[in-house]
Amino acid sequence: MSRQVKCGSVLIGGGAPISIQSMTNTDTRDACATAAQIHALADAGCDIVRCAIPDLQAAEAIRTIKQQLQNRGVSIPIVADIHFDYRLAIAAIENGADKIRINPGNIGGIDRVSAVVTKARAAKIPIRIGVNSGSLEKDLIEEFGRTPDALAQSALRWTEKIQKMGFADIVISVKSSDVRETVTVGRALSRATDCPLHLGVTEAGVGERALIKSAVGIGALLLDGIGDTIRVSLTGDPINEVAAARSILSGVGLLPGAIDIISCPTCGRCRVDLPRITAEVAAKTAVLEKARIESGIRDILTVAIMGCAVNGPGEAAHADLGVACGDGRAVFFRKGKIEENVSETEIISLILREISQC
Ligand code: SF4
Repeated sequence: MSRQVKCGSVLIGGGAPISIQSMTNTDTRDACATAAQIHALADAGCDIVRCAIPDLQAAEAIRTIKQQLQNRGVSIPIVADIHFDYRLAIAAIENGADKIRINPGNIGGIDRVSAVVTKARAAKIPIRIGVNSGSLEKDLIEEFGRTPDALAQSALRWTEKIQKMGFADIVISVKSSDVRETVTVGRALSRATDCPLHLGVTEAGVGERALIKSAVGIGALLLDGIGDTIRVSLTGDPINEVAAARSILSGVGLLPGAIDIISCPTCGRCRVDLPRITAEVAAKTAVLEKARIESGIRDILTVAIMGCAVNGPGEAAHADLGVACGDGRAVFFRKGKIEENVSETEIISLILREISQC
């Protein structure tokens, strides 16, 4: 198990629930717009949010953003994303950043990394070491090429250097836009370190393919028991990243409080409008799932919506709640027992009522 670090009020690693991260795409210097987007991300289920800090004004805006979030009653840790200029990391910490993300390879040398570490230690905040192939050390490129091994070695080398400074609150990320590389690096890191790992397929793109790339890369590692916090990287509105991250966690059974809908693809045997029923239940279930998660329910609720008697009774009986449909009707199961026989028009309200009582 990875060791645990604390980012604001969120625990990362050490058996804590996998946290969901996203990144704002507002101009961080526009504190109002950034606070509004962070509020929306928090409402969508984001646990930790990262903001780009390209200059001193952006670093200083963190203080105003946090104040605005507090005024809105929103509590969510903010990570300052720093490249090139270590002074921005220091300014971000002075302005209340809950975590710093640096790429030590592009920050200007060990002394500057050390200055950031000293400041983070004093502020009791963690550092995420994020390396990428663009800033790999020459000797690693010579030994390994621009490969997953070189990326892993670079991250581990920096981790060791920072640990030797007496600083242990480190999260590591080595992301790639290539799914195989992402998985290979994640596995290599998990064998070599107990630092918590931040997972993601970076620059995954847009649309369905981006979602599937992210699900495959992140999901493969999570199923191996690797990873402590995730970010799905999608071009566009970051709210979509949070929904995708939740779906990935739900898909691998790691979203506490999730409502997992099991429904058949339908075929020529189906005698109800199962696609409409399932779509409506899924849409209305999203609100119920959010309420379960926010109220601290940890059990995953399985709901089967099945089209006929071939696989229907088995799946419905196996789920917490289930319907096995027939010709314009359905048999309803609760915890494996048949409870009711209802008409097609009653199926949706019955399932939603039962979910809300669980
Ligand atoms: S459960 Fe019935 S309707 Fe659904 S796919 Fe299987 S055989 Fe077809």
